Amino acid sequence: MIAIDNVNKWYGDFQVLTNCSTAIVKGEVVVVCGPSGSGKSTLIKCVNALEPFQKGQITVDGTKVMDKATNLPKLRSRVGMVFQHFELFPHLSITENLTLAQRKVLRRPAEEAKKRGLDLLARVGLSAHASKYPGQLSGGQQQRVAIARALAMDPIVMLFDEPTSALDPEMVGEVLDVMVELARDGMTMMVVTHEMGFARKVADRVIFMDRGEIVEDATKDDFFGKPRSERAQQFLSKIL
Ligand code: ATP
Ligand code: MG
Repeated sequence: MIAIDNVNKWYGDFQVLTNCSTAIVKGEVVVVCGPSGSGKSTLIKCVNALEPFQKGQITVDGTKVMDKATNLPKLRSRVGMVFQHFELFPHLSITENLTLAQRKVLRRPAEEAKKRGLDLLARVGLSAHASKYPGQLSGGQQQRVAIARALAMDPIVMLFDEPTSALDPEMVGEVLDVMVELARDGMTMMVVTHEMGFARKVADRVIFMDRGEIVEDATKDDFFGKPRSERAQQFLSKIL
């Protein structure tokens, strides 16, 4: 589904990604963790070409993301992305937030888009809030709407970049619950998070990054169980 092949990226003289390679198969849930500044966000943004890279290749469902011939809007419509800060449109109602891209990008008829949006709103437990505006919802609720909005585009893969790290602690659980359910439904997911409880529950694999390199790429059981690199051990001892 996603093949990341020897990706290298520089910001000027600074090499932010060094020889990063991994592959994510359909239905797999891969958690990416590592210290601040290790390149996690940069790598995940390379997957849907929000960041260009100078060397190596990434393909999503067979499409080369850095190929000039690639239709980027089409690619991005199939790769759902949820960031740390829920970027809902503040001046649009929840229903409008859920339907806008379906209508504009996928050209879905309004009624069909609305039905799909409301079905997904129910799935994240927020049916009662359809006609509210983002500012009237809590952070956790807004993030659940952001997930529903991404799902409305029928993505083949979902990318998450620390979706819970800007939330008050009591709201983290409700967002993780939605993500756990999504994983169990078979969605292909690449998730940057320090929530190791989530990783233990649903990750198939854990990738640990440090200074722009993929230092560990292991099954969940190996990552949490067997001896691993000193850098990963140090990291885990700090956050577990
Ligand atoms: P965090 O856990 O804090 O989110 P991260 O692992 O996601 O960190 P990145 O945001 O990918 O790290 O950043 C990796 C490195 O690249 C950092 O050293 C950062 O300062 C640098 N960097 C990120 N964006 C830019 C940019 N636009 N220009 C120059 N350097 C950048
Ligand atoms: Mg980051």
